Amino acid sequence: PSVGTSADVEVEAAPVSAKYTKLFIDGQFVDALSGKTFDTLDPRNGELIAKVAEADKEDVDLAVQAARKAFDEGPWPRLSGYERGRILFKYADILEQHADELAALETLDNGKPVQYARQLDVAGAVRIMRIFAGYADKISGRSVKMDGSYQGYTLHEPIGVVGQIIPWNFPLVMFATKVSPALACGNTVILKPAEQTPLTALYAAHLATEVGLPPGVLNVLPGFGPTAGAAIASHIGIDKVSFTGSTEVGRKIMIAAANSNLKPVTLELGGKSPLIILDDADLDLAVQLSYMAIFFNQGQVCCAGSRIFVQEGIYDAFLKKSIELAKQRVIGDPFKGGVEHGPLVDQLQLKTVMGYIESGKEEGANLVIGGNQIGSKGYYVEPTIFADVQDNMKIAKEEIFGPVMSVFKFKSVEEIIQRANNTNYGLAAGIVTKNIDLANRFSRSIRAGIIWINCYHIVDPSLPFGGYKMSGIGRENGEYVLQNYLQVKAVVTPLYDSPW
Ligand code: NAD
Repeated sequence: PSVGTSADVEVEAAPVSAKYTKLFIDGQFVDALSGKTFDTLDPRNGELIAKVAEADKEDVDLAVQAARKAFDEGPWPRLSGYERGRILFKYADILEQHADELAALETLDNGKPVQYARQLDVAGAVRIMRIFAGYADKISGRSVKMDGSYQGYTLHEPIGVVGQIIPWNFPLVMFATKVSPALACGNTVILKPAEQTPLTALYAAHLATEVGLPPGVLNVLPGFGPTAGAAIASHIGIDKVSFTGSTEVGRKIMIAAANSNLKPVTLELGGKSPLIILDDADLDLAVQLSYMAIFFNQGQVCCAGSRIFVQEGIYDAFLKKSIELAKQRVIGDPFKGGVEHGPLVDQLQLKTVMGYIESGKEEGANLVIGGNQIGSKGYYVEPTIFADVQDNMKIAKEEIFGPVMSVFKFKSVEEIIQRANNTNYGLAAGIVTKNIDLANRFSRSIRAGIIWINCYHIVDPSLPFGGYKMSGIGRENGEYVLQNYLQVKAVVTPLYDSPW
């Protein structure tokens, strides 16, 4: 269907089923100690995909024991970077060999169109794994000639047991983003996937057993945030925690880390990213970029362009074309070829997004297309556009995380820099203009971790990614991420009879 249809979206039988549904600890799939399981549901129709073992504190304890042993006594941190890299390259290859199955599983658990799951999520995860496999043998310290007759040198050592907690919007990409650099540096890992989407991380854990990753080096514990997640954040046997998710939970992670063993924390959090379209922009490009910025992955993207600011001269033309484009968006069963827009991840997300749409209407934003749930089965929401949004409205300030475009009008460049920065977040920003001087000024004036000029959502594992302000602490990707997973040790020795 497209916008305006109210019938249920028809879905076909899923082409894949969940094979790995238990906790992965010390190289084995095991039940939770409590014996508890939770349901993971198909977002296309709300039906059960599988019952998944539910980790709690005592399972985290077991995983910490395994990861500690693998770190303190095992070969992994002691291997040469070259050997670790070889294993991670093999891991990337085997993920790639299972790309079709992984993509289908991602679509089944998350609802994203399978064409994107295959081309973007799985291919992206493989690429991330390869890039960090390549870093493994390039990690080294420096030497320093000191004052007096001393020399110092630095060792870049793995930090130890790393806890990683990830969200549901890009489950496999997040798995690879967290695990690959941590492993490349020689750490051991305990990862908790989101309760909505545990399946691809478990499948990937199974594949790790086939490439020679020693037991205990990678542990995957599906479970809920307040139980398994909180146990990871507050565990004194975990040396570092890296979290991606909401700002609200990020704050809890930091508090738990501080209250336990002061483990260092990296946080990749939410956003309310501005995309600014100047009068001189190529209109078709601006419309295309805005559409992709907010509708990609049904809007469930941390760096989504959720505030589209359009200069008054092209405002009306921009809106007209954007509405036309939204009308053409192909909504449907994400397993069907050509579908661009699947369901949201779960019932809760559906409720949240519909709540924001109501709030937009109530506060007087102009709903120009969409605004409805599609059918009553599954969690489909129409691509929705609000025009004439005002900065003080709830939909202008809070992260919606759904397919809701908010369009704002502006007059001057001075005004727009101030308005774009007027948010607690600072993850990403975009500008569409032909004026390079303005684009340069804008990139230096906006407080955000990535600036896209005449493009949007272009990310790469070689380029750092992360937030200013309440969008996070630290950077992922690129060489920068390695700092999150390394300790630096200085070693000093005297120098005798050295001429230099
Ligand atoms: P969330 O914060 O609710 O959950 C994320 C993860 O944290 C899940 O695994 C969850 O189980 C766990 N968790 C929940 N409560 C916890 C607690 N008390 N202690 C420990 N762990 C806990 O976020 P979500 O709704 O799953 O994901 C959406 C959010 O993630 C959005 O805000 C989005 O912007 C953000 N996100 C950010 C990035 C980024 O790179 N900056 C990427 C993707 C998503």
